[in-house]
Amino acid sequence: MTELDCQKCGACCTHAGDISVYPTDTGIPKHLTRSVRGRVGYGSWEAEQGTRVMAKNDCDTCSALKSNKDGYTCRIYENRPVVCREFPAGSDECFAARKLAGLDT
Ligand code: SF4
Ligand code: SF4
Repeated sequence: MTELDCQKCGACCTHAGDISVYPTDTGIPKHLTRSVRGRVGYGSWEAEQGTRVMAKNDCDTCSALKSNKDGYTCRIYENRPVVCREFPAGSDECFAARKLAGLDT
């Protein structure tokens, strides 16, 4: 199995759905996020928190994802949202994302 290196992968950062950005997620440039306040489907807790989510690029990838010669990397990796920090590399979901991206699992 290929050794997993999230900083060269980014498979789960593509078509990942909304990635919440909580007030405790600091250091993320605001222009990389968008507001979901008042959006149908978001609960009152999120509305009270003023929850934002990571914005998307035109190709539906996270706005913080960028490509380089090694693959894809997160430009805010040190300050990435807690949702991303807690996504377990090596989990079934990780391997499913990698498979969708055409990477070795
Ligand atoms: S968690 Fe898995 S899919 Fe996501 S960047 Fe890391 S290795 Fe890739
Ligand atoms: S913030 Fe970084 S780790 Fe999280 S989905 Fe976006 S590119 Fe991936």
